[in-house]
Amino acid sequence: MINLILLGPPGAGKGTQSKNLVQQYKFIHISPGESLREQVSKNTPIGQQVAEYINEGKLVPPAIIADMVEKQLLTLKKDGYGFLFDGFPRTVSQVITLEKKLATQNQQIDAMVLLEIPEVELFRRVKLRAQIAGRADDQGDHKIATRMRIYHEETTLVGLYYAKKDKLFRVDGEGERDVVFGRIVAVMEQLLDGVSPSR
Ligand code: AMP
Repeated sequence: MINLILLGPPGAGKGTQSKNLVQQYKFIHISPGESLREQVSKNTPIGQQVAEYINEGKLVPPAIIADMVEKQLLTLKKDGYGFLFDGFPRTVSQVITLEKKLATQNQQIDAMVLLEIPEVELFRRVKLRAQIAGRADDQGDHKIATRMRIYHEETTLVGLYYAKKDKLFRVDGEGERDVVFGRIVAVMEQLLDGVSPSR
């Protein structure tokens, strides 16, 4: 059983590749971004609290994320399958919270996959998605720029954290989605064989 984090900047393809991973490896998918968008679209009390943050491309307050993930860890727990954390943890303090929670269940993060893509390509993808999917946080250059800035300021530190623990796998996220998935599958095979990332 492998517990995996999938991260990357906005537009890197986390959502698409998470779906593939869930289908192929039966991961239990935990995606705060997806869950929050659902709360917003249903206009629940949490949805009302977070709508502004999401729409502006800012991070949602940590307590809301921690609560949501904790509930999912408890209710979604199924024996035999690992967790796939998609777009979470996005800050080092979220890492610490998550690791503490997992430790209480005698579990840990086994690896982090970081999808890497040049920034021009990210902007191109997000703008394309803005036309197709209609996500509020994809609309407008300043929102996209805010998300990119937060990614660089906060989320890259999560990558450094797992690099130091020899758990970071960098994956080239450019190219056709199936090709990118093939690269992730190669990582999964290494993990299932018990191999650490090469430095
Ligand atoms: P995503 O779909 O993962 O790109 O997330 C969409 C939005 O949800 C983000 O821009 C944040 O506003 C919020 N969000 C998702 N994950 C987190 C997180 N781990 N911490 C704080 N906010 C988050």
